[in-house]
Amino acid sequence: MGPHETIPLSRPTFGDEEIDALREVLDSGWVAGQGPRGRMLEEAFSELCGGVGAVAVANCTAALHLALLGFDLGPGDEVLVSDYTYPATGHSVLYTGATPRFVDVRPDTWTMDVEAAAAAVGPRTVGIVAVDTLGQCADLGPLRDLATRHGLFLVEDAACSVGATYRGRPSGSLADVACFSLHARKGITSGEGGMLVSPDPARVEQARKLSCFGVESAHARQSADGLPVPVFEALGYNYKLSDIQAAVALVQLRRLPDLLAARRRVAAAYLAGLADVPGLTLPVVGEERDHTWQTFALTLDPDVPRAEVASSLRDVGVQVNIGTFASHRQPVYGPQEPLPVSGGLFDRHLAIPMHADLTGTEVERVVLAVRDALAPHT
Ligand SMILES: *Cc1c(COP(=O)(O)O)cnc(C)c1O
Repeated sequence: MGPHETIPLSRPTFGDEEIDALREVLDSGWVAGQGPRGRMLEEAFSELCGGVGAVAVANCTAALHLALLGFDLGPGDEVLVSDYTYPATGHSVLYTGATPRFVDVRPDTWTMDVEAAAAAVGPRTVGIVAVDTLGQCADLGPLRDLATRHGLFLVEDAACSVGATYRGRPSGSLADVACFSLHARKGITSGEGGMLVSPDPARVEQARKLSCFGVESAHARQSADGLPVPVFEALGYNYKLSDIQAAVALVQLRRLPDLLAARRRVAAAYLAGLADVPGLTLPVVGEERDHTWQTFALTLDPDVPRAEVASSLRDVGVQVNIGTFASHRQPVYGPQEPLPVSGGLFDRHLAIPMHADLTGTEVERVVLAVRDALAPHT
């Protein structure tokens, strides 16, 4: 890549292995969902998350919807939701008819503030959806304690945290249900895709059925004797992941350690290269956890004009974006109380390029560009 080519904010890392896997799955004749590769992918996620059950689905939002359906939510129920997140989290609560009650986040890790969550528990609260923000786990230990104390469920929106750990345990192993994303912007990807995991086998089987119209799996039917006639037992959805996507995701999951190591190298280089730059605060890795660095976000000082800085960076070929969203400021959720930490991050975050194929030269270019872009404003 020449000095003037654009450095993308994010890009998937694909190679010959993914192409070979695609050729194989296309030749195999099974390209729909709930096929052999989907099963293999579920087994691989189960292993990654310490033996939980797993259901491959179309995307993480579908996984969140299925997770919440398993708790029989409805109008009048309230679910505590980490505010600083992609609005898929809040949307999934609304799909069930329940109401998201947004909770502010920690200023350092940007994950749900446990004290704020405790203060928000009310008579209608039935559960908590914690988000592993931009790839680092929420305080899943204290949140589990809070949930147990009040008889609430705990769902982990682990969209960005495939391969993260908390107190030495893998993300996805610490909640009643966890939901991963395989979207193109995440650490491993099949274009679109998701995975629901849970230690509770009954929950897993219910989610599997509801991901396929409320009927038993096509693969299970095909391998049975005689002519089994499917029975539709519940109003399910078509949330299946195609075996084409599963084939790609399987390769990506095998490459996860290398892809994570590459992102961690980039993060370490940014943290060192930008340590003394005025006008910004660097991201912090919280105690007892490993980050996947799905996004690397700088927190600009309040008086730094973010849009101008973004334009300067784009002018020199460095793609940038916001961090993620303050849910409480999205009109779809109606009027909400202000949540100052999340609101501040929504206004001040600037995501800089982060993916596993960034070269040392590109990282240096980004570091210099950030310095130059901030200099006039500090
Ligand atoms: C990306 C993301 C989602 C949505 O994932 P999809 O697979 O695109 O549905 C949900 N929550 C968070 C925190 C995300 O970052």
